[in-house]
Amino acid sequence: MPGSLRIAIVGGGIGGLTAALALRARGLEVRVFEQAEVLREIGAGVSVHPNAARLLKRVGFEEQLQKIGSPISAAVLRTSQGDLITVRDGSATPALAEGDLGYNVHRADLLNLLFDALPKGTVALGHRCVQLKEEDDRVRLSFANGVAAEADVVIGADGIRSVVQREIGLQSRPTSERIMAYRGLIPAERLPWAPDLKGTHFWLGSGRSFLLYPVAQGRLINMVAFVPTDTDSEESWSAPGDLKALAAEYAGWDRPVQDTINSLDETFRWGIYDRAPLPYWSTDRITLMGDAAHPMVPHVGQGAGQSIEDGFTLAVLLEGCTAKDVADRLDLYEVIRRERTSKVQALARAAGQLYRSEHDTPAEMAARLREWAAQRKWVFEHDAEKVAADALSNRPR
Ligand SMILES: Cc1cc2nc3c(=O)[nH]c(=O)nc-3n(C[C@H](O)[C@H](O)[C@H](O)COP(=O)(O)OP(=O)(O)OC[C@H]3O[C@@H](n4cnc5c(N)ncnc54)[C@H](O)[C@@H]3O)c2cc1C
Repeated sequence: MPGSLRIAIVGGGIGGLTAALALRARGLEVRVFEQAEVLREIGAGVSVHPNAARLLKRVGFEEQLQKIGSPISAAVLRTSQGDLITVRDGSATPALAEGDLGYNVHRADLLNLLFDALPKGTVALGHRCVQLKEEDDRVRLSFANGVAAEADVVIGADGIRSVVQREIGLQSRPTSERIMAYRGLIPAERLPWAPDLKGTHFWLGSGRSFLLYPVAQGRLINMVAFVPTDTDSEESWSAPGDLKALAAEYAGWDRPVQDTINSLDETFRWGIYDRAPLPYWSTDRITLMGDAAHPMVPHVGQGAGQSIEDGFTLAVLLEGCTAKDVADRLDLYEVIRRERTSKVQALARAAGQLYRSEHDTPAEMAARLREWAAQRKWVFEHDAEKVAADALSNRPR
């Protein structure tokens, strides 16, 4: 595509690969540089709620999402002893009532899906970006393997330890939420009730929350168990956890909670850290997206979703853009996305506090959860492409 913008994406996670697909769908030239030598199967369940699923469906992934995912149809919340607190079904949210569903997926399945949909050669594996040099008319990228590249625009999709963030003079400081999560995947055949498990199931009590949902078309059950901690746990996706310590945290809880823990072969520890919104995301030719721009605590399952929204927003804004317009388009991107993602970050923080609250009766908890669920409709109903297209046509010229 001679004459078109050369776009480089640093990081081939969910955000980077989605951005590449969305940009290509609008005829833009893009290369992704990913540090991993091979696509790794690390990670467990991630939620792709309707705000993100509808964007992926528009670029042709509807069938594949149904194939790899389990629909997020309802959420059932119980006390630690199994008494029902409340059931949140989709009918309260118009978008969901119309069948505009989201999906819980295994992160590796989604990554494979996105990777396979890109033409060979789009993603350069084994390329760890170590330096960016921004010049008037280009950005030069250097990689740890000695390779160099240049681009008109660089998108930093390189996650919570972003090198691109550092290269544009930013540093995001994590603060511990004083909780950690145990995570695990259990083959569904080990749990007799697993075939009937639809949507997301929560158990709440004593400052802890335990959640289960099916992924991989119900073949696996994803577990996340949040517990209080005084020590700073590693912010890792692969640090091994202690099954005995996990069992002790949930001793005496409802039967399915204990059955699940007893069925695990292994568990992973994940320290939960929060970060304040960054003061800016972009320079003239470089910007950030996904966790590199707005990492958030996981309590509303929007980490993947917000990165998908970023990718589609960038595609709308960069379509038809010449090299001299890049700085203006990145400004607009930042204005649109910083406002929304800061609100989602705050919502996720508040959700964590709500799930951990210790003093409510089940009825008080149900009322607070209903009020909270009603408030978060704006997250699911958002159409990132429409918002970007409207902002582009309404901008002052
Ligand atoms: C290994 C892994 C496992 C995860 N597992 C889960 C999970 O089970 N549940 C969940 O909710 N969320 C998980 N997440 C986080 C979740 O994927 C993100 O919150 C969300 O999808 C936003 O994605 P992102 O693309 O912005 O960042 P990420 O998913 O973190 O992707 C960033 C990508 O950038 C690459 N990268 C980093 N630095 C460089 C560099 N200098 N040069 C080139 N490439 C670089 C990384 O290897 C990675 O592929 C995981 C993330 C990772 C990296």
